[in-house]
Amino acid sequence: MLPLYDAHQHFQFDELAPHRPAIAATLREIGLKGAVINGSCEQDWPVVTTLAKQYDWIVPSYGLHPWDCGNRSPQWLASLRAQLEAHPLAHVGEIGLDRWMIDGVKPGDPRLDGLRVAPMEEQREAFTSQLGLAAALNRAASVHCLQAFGPLLEDLKDTPRPARGFLLHAYSGPAEMIGPFAELGAYFSFNANFLKHKSGSRSPGGYSRLQDWKLIPADRLLVETDAPAMPLPKEWTVHLLPAGPQGEKLNHPANIEVAYAALASLRKTPVEALVNQVEKNFQRLFLNHAQL
Ligand SMILES: [Zn+2]
Repeated sequence: MLPLYDAHQHFQFDELAPHRPAIAATLREIGLKGAVINGSCEQDWPVVTTLAKQYDWIVPSYGLHPWDCGNRSPQWLASLRAQLEAHPLAHVGEIGLDRWMIDGVKPGDPRLDGLRVAPMEEQREAFTSQLGLAAALNRAASVHCLQAFGPLLEDLKDTPRPARGFLLHAYSGPAEMIGPFAELGAYFSFNANFLKHKSGSRSPGGYSRLQDWKLIPADRLLVETDAPAMPLPKEWTVHLLPAGPQGEKLNHPANIEVAYAALASLRKTPVEALVNQVEKNFQRLFLNHAQL
């Protein structure tokens, strides 16, 4: 069995709670060795901690997601620091910048229900303070970015960054920015949700194309699901979950298999070679505890 790693998912989300034991059994069957579980708001950090004690494949990560930025508590940054100091093997994430939720989202999108949308300046302040914390503690930072790649590059240049590097999860930025981000220490994780874009067409943000994934340097490649978010197109889905409480499609974390197979085919490389490369990259970014 090939050792698989999921660089970015959310096993702590409530929608997965009734399915967790079955999912964990399937993940063992497919050979999953590690997954970074990203806490995205103050309320779900303790859930990540509890799950990390229960499942040995979980690499915990704590952060304030840009969607949750507007609802943060006054003491959020001090709580995050305390959380990271209490868990020396944990990383920072999910953090980031999101302009889509300010001016790209369709009115009534249930994903933003009940959230106060934080303006860009507020998001940038929350992002850079978390990036600085990751740098100070030398934890990897897992970064979400939608339609804000210019400000992201500026902030990454102007802020101390973790020496071990950082992850641009489900990278949807322009091909021309892969080099500049990589120079600053970026890793890039491929998500099989991108298979919904026809080969050659651009993502809704107008940037990335499937074939851009051939341009990522091999030593910076990772693979992810973002489960239960980012469900795969129907024809690619191998592992199914029943719909969530609001009828939303849920992505099964075992679909990580599909992401590996699709990325190997895009890069015209044998799956075994990709698996070995991703294992080295995942270990260097997330499991190299000698650096901590
Ligand atoms: Zn995520």
